[in-house]
Amino acid sequence: MRIILLGAPGAGKGTVAKLLTDFDGSVQISTGDILRSEVRAGTDLGKEAKEYMDRGDLVPDAIIMKMMEGRLQEPDCRKGFILDGFPRTIQQAKNLGELLSRLQVRLDFVANLEVPREVVLDRLTTRRTCSNPACQEIYNIKTKPAPGGKCEKCGSPVVQRDDETEAAILHRLDTYTKKTAPLVDFYRKEGILRDFVSVSSAETVQAIKRELLG
Ligand code: ADP
Ligand code: ZN
Repeated sequence: MRIILLGAPGAGKGTVAKLLTDFDGSVQISTGDILRSEVRAGTDLGKEAKEYMDRGDLVPDAIIMKMMEGRLQEPDCRKGFILDGFPRTIQQAKNLGELLSRLQVRLDFVANLEVPREVVLDRLTTRRTCSNPACQEIYNIKTKPAPGGKCEKCGSPVVQRDDETEAAILHRLDTYTKKTAPLVDFYRKEGILRDFVSVSSAETVQAIKRELLG
């Protein structure tokens, strides 16, 4: 499959993407995960991106596009990809469109995950993430606590992300409304938007699979 997951922070893009990779071997490409691993590795890119990320601001389009241009041409993308957290601005969407036509790749559709603001806010404040870069399993202090604060998959400490303070969360939601929500109309006009009113991530995954098969 070749799809874009669009949705507010906390809409469940990461969880849905992970579940979908089991479906047909398509790779999950999360710009947030790639950026966090650059930050941890202390690369120039990571150093530049960290300031924006900690504030809940978007990393500049040029940096993201350079990163994604390389990523989308790696061999593992041939089977298909699930874009999680990209594109996030109209400019990124336009650049992605040009890149994909150059690579002669067509998207199946853009999945718009609609989740009520209260749900998103609650999820983000209670979300915890495995600190192991290779794992990044997602936990939740209410619905899926990590036993003893350790990841069930790999045993690493489970932590709150640097950008998951309340101020940064509110700012990320605001950034989403201003910069990313306009992509809904952008892709609706292109005729490739599909809405998924998300109840649970598992149900969204089923609905996306039905849309792919149908
Ligand atoms: P969430 O969807 O929960 O906000 P992500 O892990 O997708 O979290 O992104 C974390 C941060 O990484 C964002 O707040 C932003 O600073 C940066 N980021 C991720 N993807 C992009 C992108 N496509 N364009 C610009 N910044 C991005
Ligand atoms: Zn883990």
